[in-house]
Amino acid sequence: MKLRTGDLVQVIAGKDRGKQAKISRAHPARDTLIVEGVNTAKRHQKQTSQTMQGGIIDKDMPIHVSNVMIVCPECGPTKIGARIDDDGNKFRICRKCGGEL
Ligand SMILES: [Zn+2]
Repeated sequence: MKLRTGDLVQVIAGKDRGKQAKISRAHPARDTLIVEGVNTAKRHQKQTSQTMQGGIIDKDMPIHVSNVMIVCPECGPTKIGARIDDDGNKFRICRKCGGEL
Protein backbone atom coordinates (compact mmCIF):
# COMPACT_ATOMS: atom_id res chain seq x y z
CA MET A 1 0.00 0.00 0.00
CA LYS A 2 1.41 3.35 -1.03
CA LEU A 3 -0.75 5.51 1.19
CA ARG A 4 0.09 6.29 4.77
CA THR A 5 -1.20 8.07 7.81
CA GLY A 6 -1.46 11.83 7.33
CA ASP A 7 -1.88 11.73 3.55
CA LEU A 8 -4.57 13.96 2.07
CA VAL A 9 -6.89 11.85 -0.07
CA GLN A 10 -10.04 12.33 -2.10
CA VAL A 11 -12.83 9.78 -1.86
CA ILE A 12 -13.81 8.52 -5.31
CA ALA A 13 -16.54 6.02 -4.45
CA GLY A 14 -19.36 5.58 -1.99
CA LYS A 15 -21.55 8.02 -0.11
CA ASP A 16 -18.65 10.36 0.70
CA ARG A 17 -17.47 10.63 -2.92
CA GLY A 18 -15.72 13.95 -3.56
CA LYS A 19 -14.70 14.56 0.04
CA GLN A 20 -11.10 15.40 0.79
CA ALA A 21 -9.66 14.48 4.17
CA LYS A 22 -6.58 13.14 5.89
CA ILE A 23 -5.87 9.52 6.63
CA SER A 24 -5.97 9.05 10.38
CA ARG A 25 -5.03 5.38 10.33
CA ALA A 26 -3.82 2.88 7.75
CA HIS A 27 -4.19 -0.90 7.83
CA PRO A 28 -1.74 -2.18 5.19
CA ALA A 29 -2.52 -5.83 5.91
CA ARG A 30 -6.15 -5.30 4.99
CA ASP A 31 -5.66 -2.53 2.42
CA THR A 32 -8.06 -0.34 4.36
CA LEU A 33 -7.86 3.19 5.71
CA ILE A 34 -9.58 5.27 8.32
CA VAL A 35 -10.13 8.72 6.82
CA GLU A 36 -11.22 11.61 9.04
CA GLY A 37 -14.96 12.19 8.77
CA VAL A 38 -15.41 9.66 5.96
CA ASN A 39 -17.69 6.62 6.05
CA THR A 40 -18.99 7.72 9.42
CA ALA A 41 -21.35 5.44 11.27
CA LYS A 42 -23.49 6.26 14.28
CA ARG A 43 -22.49 4.08 17.16
CA HIS A 44 -24.31 3.66 20.40
CA GLN A 45 -21.76 3.59 23.11
CA LYS A 46 -21.94 3.00 26.81
CA GLN A 47 -20.08 5.39 29.00
CA THR A 48 -16.78 3.95 30.17
CA SER A 49 -13.82 5.34 31.98
CA GLN A 50 -11.87 5.13 28.71
CA THR A 51 -14.19 7.12 26.50
CA MET A 52 -15.66 9.44 29.16
CA GLN A 53 -18.58 9.81 26.79
CA GLY A 54 -21.77 7.87 26.38
CA GLY A 55 -24.66 8.01 23.96
CA ILE A 56 -24.43 8.16 20.18
CA ILE A 57 -21.07 8.96 18.69
CA ASP A 58 -19.82 9.25 15.12
CA LYS A 59 -17.24 6.64 14.33
CA ASP A 60 -15.12 6.60 11.19
CA MET A 61 -15.30 3.18 9.56
CA PRO A 62 -12.54 1.72 7.37
CA ILE A 63 -12.72 2.14 3.61
CA HIS A 64 -10.76 0.25 0.98
CA VAL A 65 -7.68 1.93 -0.52
CA SER A 66 -9.18 1.58 -4.01
CA ASN A 67 -11.90 4.05 -2.99
CA VAL A 68 -9.51 6.96 -2.55
CA MET A 69 -6.90 8.84 -4.55
CA ILE A 70 -4.02 10.82 -3.12
CA VAL A 71 -4.32 14.58 -3.55
CA CYS A 72 -1.34 16.39 -5.08
CA PRO A 73 -0.97 20.00 -3.81
CA GLU A 74 -0.42 21.13 -7.42
CA CYS A 75 -2.93 19.14 -9.47
CA GLY A 76 -5.47 17.55 -7.14
CA PRO A 77 -6.40 13.86 -7.10
CA THR A 78 -3.71 11.84 -8.83
CA LYS A 79 -1.95 8.51 -9.02
CA ILE A 80 1.22 7.76 -7.12
CA GLY A 81 4.40 7.04 -8.98
CA ALA A 82 7.78 6.08 -7.64
CA ARG A 83 11.18 7.64 -8.09
CA ILE A 84 14.53 6.41 -6.83
CA ASP A 85 17.39 8.85 -6.55
CA ASP A 86 21.07 8.13 -7.08
CA ASP A 87 21.50 7.12 -3.45
CA GLY A 88 18.74 4.53 -3.65
CA ASN A 89 16.20 6.56 -1.69
CA LYS A 90 12.62 5.98 -2.74
CA PHE A 91 10.21 8.85 -3.24
CA ARG A 92 6.53 8.91 -3.99
CA ILE A 93 5.76 11.27 -6.83
CA CYS A 94 2.69 12.65 -8.55
CA ARG A 95 2.23 10.94 -11.92
CA LYS A 96 0.84 14.15 -13.40
CA CYS A 97 3.41 16.79 -12.43
CA GLY A 98 6.25 14.65 -11.07
CA GLY A 99 6.28 16.53 -7.77
CA GLU A 100 7.15 14.75 -4.58
CA LEU A 101 4.25 13.59 -2.43
ZN1 LIG B 1 0.86 16.86 -9.22
